[in-house]
Amino acid sequence: MYELKISSMFSSAHNLRGYNGKCENIHGHNWQIEVVVCAELLNGIGIAVDFKILKNYLKLIMEKLDHKYINELAYFENINPSAENIAKYIFKEFNILLQSDRENQNEAQNSNVKVKKVNVYETPTSMASYYE
Ligand SMILES: [Zn+2]
Repeated sequence: MYELKISSMFSSAHNLRGYNGKCENIHGHNWQIEVVVCAELLNGIGIAVDFKILKNYLKLIMEKLDHKYINELAYFENINPSAENIAKYIFKEFNILLQSDRENQNEAQNSNVKVKKVNVYETPTSMASYYE
């Protein structure tokens, strides 16, 4: 297996509903995101998928989150925007982008490329992951 990792960050506000403590109040983070994809096969020039394509997917997702109050996004209306749930959201969104490019026969199709794990750092020392 091959594994590729890309990272990015965004700044946004959230609050944790039902949390008994100061995180119940609206506050902000500089979220650091890592997306790990895996692939069993390489293409003819020895790459699993172009980093440029992966970075573009992540950029599209970051644009939905950057400088937002995450609680107000439709996905988080009934789901608490914890680092755990943000990781799951990014995992799902990234898979949708991989899938739709595959249907468009784009270069990223490399049908063996899958999202393996998403890491979300709320602070440099606190990270939550989501994988399936
Ligand atoms: Zn927080």
